[in-house]
Amino acid sequence: MGIKENYQKIRSEVPDNVVIIVACKTRTKEEIEEVIEAGAKYLGENYVQEAEKIHEALGEQTKEIKWHMIGHLQKNKINRALKIFDVIQTIDSKEIAVHLNERAERIGKVVPVYIEMNLGNEETKSGVKAEYGVVEQLAKEISELKSLRLEGLMAMEPQLDDARDTRTYFKKAKVIFDKIKALDLPNVEMKTLSMGMSASYEVAIREGSNMVRLGAAIFGER
Ligand SMILES: *Cc1c(COP(=O)(O)O)cnc(C)c1O
Repeated sequence: MGIKENYQKIRSEVPDNVVIIVACKTRTKEEIEEVIEAGAKYLGENYVQEAEKIHEALGEQTKEIKWHMIGHLQKNKINRALKIFDVIQTIDSKEIAVHLNERAERIGKVVPVYIEMNLGNEETKSGVKAEYGVVEQLAKEISELKSLRLEGLMAMEPQLDDARDTRTYFKKAKVIFDKIKALDLPNVEMKTLSMGMSASYEVAIREGSNMVRLGAAIFGER
């Protein structure tokens, strides 16, 4: 099947309330155009530089798209990231939140952000520890930053041979999400749990995800 068929099939299968972020890393302009033509409205990029290139190549088409930063955000790329992205999903420290807030304030923007959780506590991955106290603390800190608006959590699961084994991790993420939401912090609107990739999105949705990030399932293996 082609990119268009893959996207449309998955879109028709997942519940309407679940947002599909098309993860575009390393994909060509033509591949990305095809998925936009298929109806994709949300694109995810991991690298600022790659996102800039695609933006330039797509021109007007980019305006109808919501762009999500799903890769690690480097401090020295914040200004450039702010020009491109509508949502930053990967806040994992007070420091990066404070810097982003400062830059956003300077240009008069309020930026929707998610806290990234590293569900398996893997050293090679960014994201905060998936412990309630840790996420709570960062959520409270972000709540004080007027040019950021915390709107959700992004969960990265460990890659396991059997995707069904990710269920326990996803359950834990959902519990943390619900507890943060229940805090009802000022300037925080917890509406999105971004969780699940190509191998795991069906499990993630069953465990409460309402945003999945898909690359391989749409474009094929890299
Ligand atoms: C690449 C990537 C995805 C999508 O991964 P697939 O397995 O190709 O679906 C999702 N989230 C993040 C953060 C990624 O970097």
